[in-house]
Amino acid sequence: MSLPRRQFLTQASAGLAGTLLAGLVGSVPGCAPARSAVRGQLRGAGHALGHRLRDLKSLPAATRTEEIDLLIIGGGISGLSARRALHELAPARQALLLELEPGVGGNAASGHNARTAYPWGAHYLPLPDERDAELLAFLQQAGVLTGYDPATGLPHYDETMLCHDPAERLLLHGHWQAGLVPEVGVPAPDRAEIARFLALIERLRRATGPDGRDLFRLPLDLSSTDAATRPLDAETMAAWLARHDYHSEYLRWYLDYSYRDDFGVPAAQISAWAGLHYFAARKGRAHNAPPDAVLTWPQGNHFLAEALRHQGGAGEIRPNTLVFSLKETTDGRVEALAFDNATQQTTRLRARQVVLATPWHVSRHLLPAAPALAPLHAPWLVANLTVDAYPGGTGQPLSWDNVRYDSPALGYIDAEHQALRGFETEGPYSLTFYWALPTDPADPIAARRHALASTYEQWLTLVLTELDLMHPGLAAQVTAAELWVWGHGMVAPTPGYVWGPARALARQPHLGGRVHVAHTDLSGVSVFEEAFHQGRRAARAALGSPAS
Ligand SMILES: Cc1cc2nc3c(=O)[nH]c(=O)nc-3n(C[C@H](O)[C@H](O)[C@H](O)COP(=O)(O)OP(=O)(O)OC[C@H]3O[C@@H](n4cnc5c(N)ncnc54)[C@H](O)[C@@H]3O)c2cc1C
Repeated sequence: MSLPRRQFLTQASAGLAGTLLAGLVGSVPGCAPARSAVRGQLRGAGHALGHRLRDLKSLPAATRTEEIDLLIIGGGISGLSARRALHELAPARQALLLELEPGVGGNAASGHNARTAYPWGAHYLPLPDERDAELLAFLQQAGVLTGYDPATGLPHYDETMLCHDPAERLLLHGHWQAGLVPEVGVPAPDRAEIARFLALIERLRRATGPDGRDLFRLPLDLSSTDAATRPLDAETMAAWLARHDYHSEYLRWYLDYSYRDDFGVPAAQISAWAGLHYFAARKGRAHNAPPDAVLTWPQGNHFLAEALRHQGGAGEIRPNTLVFSLKETTDGRVEALAFDNATQQTTRLRARQVVLATPWHVSRHLLPAAPALAPLHAPWLVANLTVDAYPGGTGQPLSWDNVRYDSPALGYIDAEHQALRGFETEGPYSLTFYWALPTDPADPIAARRHALASTYEQWLTLVLTELDLMHPGLAAQVTAAELWVWGHGMVAPTPGYVWGPARALARQPHLGGRVHVAHTDLSGVSVFEEAFHQGRRAARAALGSPAS
């Protein structure tokens, strides 16, 4: 796809009028940059197939029936983890996994260009808590964790998977500084406030409640029930910050950036409990890396999705399959109707137990008496750009994560960072941009509708404008842009979501104790560790169910 520059600019500005993108481009100072011809396309999760859930009459009646022991619906990290746990705990039992997309991984999907794989969504795992024995066992089997130091007992991770230096840089006051906590040109009172906040987090990391549990822990259900901490779930993080005299614009930017990066929304839209948990629950340690190290791969967390798939045994995985109905039968089974998009046929699957690992907006359709849980999902844009010149600048060189202060976007990852190719080598470079799109909690559908209706050219204008602000002139060196829009990014832990009654109710078994839900929407915090444990919890429930 390529257009002459003048035609591109005219079309782009006309198409942008009145859309969400117009607002976003307006918030990026500067105009659409010069560029050479850019090849690429706009993709996204299977909206068309997924949206057929809204029009059940358009789906054909079942033409055949299969008897299944254990059925898993959804092949994201939660579903794959459930499949692995079922294989580990009950290897003799037959499990079938159905997935809507052509491949497994869900939000941890990946793509590739001629040079490298790159992530379409989830791209890193912070060092896990060393007490999380089940997660560590998985990582050891996957070759990520290579052993334990005999003296310290701490895990040793594969050096090629630990994010190499330089890990992060921030463009602040025209200079690329090391790390993302603002430092360059930051006035002393702001520095003092940042230091006060980080010192508090250090204390919270070590703090325990009267029940002896950590105040903040991952998976979050292991956190203390401390009566003084849980009420923090009722107020917003922004209100909590104001109440505790945190007003520094630099600190506020850093926190908003962090929350938008993991939850898709800023401090004003998440609970204070979740905002503190974000920092204080991270307590990973390693023998061969500092505590703030992360594990990453060119294809992002798709590496982990594939490892889960390999460790899940030989049970069948059926892709391109939309499950559109679930019901309990009188003979103690759950009947699932599954539409195969390749053959256009529907199969009736009669299962003894079901792990339902779909996002809640899908699960709600499938469970007739689903509780009123309403997760907020911001839409996301992920853009992989092929760039013919080095993305340099003054200060810290190209890093794994590269962020511009005060940008509406979240910066980009260098997809080839782990290849250790050195700096300023010949291009091209593969840069993966992340952008959580602003979402009004009162009308989240509006942002999603705009995101899904926007064109390749509109998104490209936005991304190239942002790239030019980070690296003036570099947009003209972009030769390819593969774009992906997530209509539903990840769950935002809005006030009341994590410890409110709806989440607890939703996690109960459904349809006569035969359907066990597992998805990060059921946790409120969408990170790999939560998905991994959601899957294990549901698998155990399925095997332990009196109806099993
Ligand atoms: C842009 C982006 C960046 C992220 N970055 C990170 C990161 O760096 N690190 C991190 O830890 N986390 C990250 N996350 C969060 C990530 O979502 C979680 O870590 C995790 O992958 C979620 O897994 P899940 O199984 O709970 O959900 P999902 O990934 O949503 O999986 C649900 C699966 O169900 C399938 N499905 C849906 N409906 C049906 C149906 N009717 N029939 C059959 N199948 C169906 C879907 O296709 C999907 O495969 C990111 C998320 C996004 C969107």
